[in-house]
Amino acid sequence: MAAEDRTAPVGVAIIGGGPAGLSAGLQLVRANRRIAILDSNRPRHSATLRSHGFLTRDGISPLELRRLGREEFEAYPSAITAQAVVREVLPLAAEEALAVGFPDGIGFRVRATGIRGAADETFVARRVLLAAGLTEELPALPMIRAYYGTALHSCVECDGFEKSDEPLALIGETTDVFSRALLISRFSSDLIVFTNGADTIRAEQEAQLAGIGVRVERRAIDDIVGEKAEMTGVRLADGEVIPRVGGFVRPRWHAPVEFLGELPIARDAWGLVSVDARGESSIRGVYAVGDIVPPGPQQLIIAAGNGARVAAKLNLDMIRGALGVGRVDD
Ligand SMILES: Cc1cc2nc3c(=O)[nH]c(=O)nc-3n(C[C@H](O)[C@H](O)[C@H](O)COP(=O)(O)OP(=O)(O)OC[C@H]3O[C@@H](n4cnc5c(N)ncnc54)[C@H](O)[C@@H]3O)c2cc1C
Repeated sequence: MAAEDRTAPVGVAIIGGGPAGLSAGLQLVRANRRIAILDSNRPRHSATLRSHGFLTRDGISPLELRRLGREEFEAYPSAITAQAVVREVLPLAAEEALAVGFPDGIGFRVRATGIRGAADETFVARRVLLAAGLTEELPALPMIRAYYGTALHSCVECDGFEKSDEPLALIGETTDVFSRALLISRFSSDLIVFTNGADTIRAEQEAQLAGIGVRVERRAIDDIVGEKAEMTGVRLADGEVIPRVGGFVRPRWHAPVEFLGELPIARDAWGLVSVDARGESSIRGVYAVGDIVPPGPQQLIIAAGNGARVAAKLNLDMIRGALGVGRVDD
């Protein structure tokens, strides 16, 4: 049963209802907090039909995992869910926060646009938890999306096992491609790394890869080719087609926090939201969890675990804030 009065202030507004946000939400309603999860329902892994490695749920569909999580959260009377895209997060003035009953004078107004016929929503929250995941930009190849999530994947730990002994491609234009190639080499000895013209693998790394039978192809790529839904190869700009049945791609990731507007939030060199050991960002009262924080995308179970860990810190922060005893022991 969901909380009925949607206008009363909430303890935490959680932006994003993936495993990180849902897990944090579950912990926080169980801490007797009134919690709103706002979700635009665009999970990054919706491209795939099965997700792997979540203990007790190996092979489950990503949407089913979310449905189960949402049901568990919504079973608590202080849980609120909103199908909505957050557009704006504004800090409250201290007097306004105190006036709505936030004892440490910290609070936020979160505005969201309803989706799929749902109403627009505004929540007044003591704390905000960013659990919005990442948006990803694949290498600019016309057909790559058609094979993403089926033949081509981005998470080696999630999908490597199913690719065992196949002729694989690793397509990536970033400097972490070398270590990804090492990981994939555990699954197939027939691996070609495509840098698409980027100079991201050093000569000694190329020699080390050659030592384990992995070839580096530095020529620019024209496109991914296939027959019907099956990927059959990688076509280079010079027209040569190198047969490959699938593999991995390294997208570039972006933290989707445009709703913070001009609020200055610290980011790391990859653009992910920097947080302290408790999960709090550089904006007091705004926490972040899951793929959106360094080191970036990992796995469902890690996002969920991170959500649970940060929820405990958030709860303690609100207790300490009410007592005026500071965020941490000095
Ligand atoms: C193709 C693919 C396959 C994968 N397969 C696996 C696998 O098999 N096993 C595994 O463990 N991991 C897998 N992963 C990784 C896994 O999906 C992520 O690590 C995990 O989903 C991260 O959880 P999260 O809660 O941080 O973010 P997400 O699950 O991405 O959830 C973020 C949510 O925030 C919402 N959101 C974003 N912006 C807003 C906004 N402004 N307002 C409201 N809501 C917003 C989004 O709609 C989304 O629902 C895969 C990833 C991809 C891309």
